[in-house]
Amino acid sequence: MGSILVLGGAGYIGSHTVYELIDAGEDVVIVDNLLTGFKEAVHPKARFYQGDIRDRAFMDSVFEKEDIDGVIHFAASSQVGESMKEPLKYYSNNLCGTEVLLESMVAHGIDKIVFSSTAATYGEPESIPILETDRTLPTNCYGETKLSMEKMFHWTSVAHNLRYVSLRYFNACGAHPNGKIGEAHNPETHLIPLILQVPNHQREYISIFGTDYDTKDGTCVRDYIHVNDLAQAHILAMNYLRNGGKSDIFNLGNGVGFTVKEVVETAREVTGHPIPAKEEARRAGDPSTLIASSGRAKGILGWKPQYADLKVIIETAWKWHQVHPHGYKAD
Ligand code: UDP
Repeated sequence: MGSILVLGGAGYIGSHTVYELIDAGEDVVIVDNLLTGFKEAVHPKARFYQGDIRDRAFMDSVFEKEDIDGVIHFAASSQVGESMKEPLKYYSNNLCGTEVLLESMVAHGIDKIVFSSTAATYGEPESIPILETDRTLPTNCYGETKLSMEKMFHWTSVAHNLRYVSLRYFNACGAHPNGKIGEAHNPETHLIPLILQVPNHQREYISIFGTDYDTKDGTCVRDYIHVNDLAQAHILAMNYLRNGGKSDIFNLGNGVGFTVKEVVETAREVTGHPIPAKEEARRAGDPSTLIASSGRAKGILGWKPQYADLKVIIETAWKWHQVHPHGYKAD
């Protein structure tokens, strides 16, 4: 069997997937332009090519040098706020990048791709938990480009010999329990790493964005899913395609929602630090509640998340952030 090409394999979810793929005995090739990924996150046993998926000659050269069986695609820009300020960056990196990638895959007869999509494709949900068949009406440019990428896969799969699985994640979090890789963004915007900056003496308090939502304590409810569980889902999705599975879309979440205040409280328990919190105004574009129905991923892919407990998830994140308070830069 050929190798798995992981695009964006030096990023947060990509690097965790590479570690799990190599543990599962796969031969892995990584492409990453290192704009948001880190060389230190590249698994030492993976073959690494630094380059951009928008560069057709570069992508062709990778497919020509390597014997690629399937592609797992994480190489995209992923910050909601930035996407509203710089939409064309998102169209370029996410849509144009995927178009070039697909041209190159089709030209080289690579017929399987697993794709990292997002709950942001749904926008404000009509009902909870969210099903894959629910309306998709993104409220930001990031979600819009991810939805357009899904549609590009669909129409390409109709015309060419190519099948895809799109995985719509909810709130990815946590770190590999081996302590070697974890979550590092610059700038950081996600709740759990921001909370952990307080006990790490990098910020004095955590801001709570909005306390007047229609939820049990007034703060937003999110579905937090451990990054290793996401990694496992990508491996299962690739094996599903290898076994002849048809193109499909799956949600990936815990199915359990936690409020912002519950996340802060759990982080206090894990770290033993009082973590002061300051209640602030709502953040623009935040839906009140996002919880996934992951029944299809469990039933069809055989996915079994191992980190359902928020405390365990935050413990893995804390293990990483304590040793790497400045991400990979301090290494
Ligand atoms: N949030 C917060 N304070 C912060 C960062 C995030 O209260 O400093 C809230 C945010 O409004 C949302 C939740 O935490 O309700 C999760 O936000 P995050 O950016 O981690 O993920 P998102 O759900 O936006 O993908």
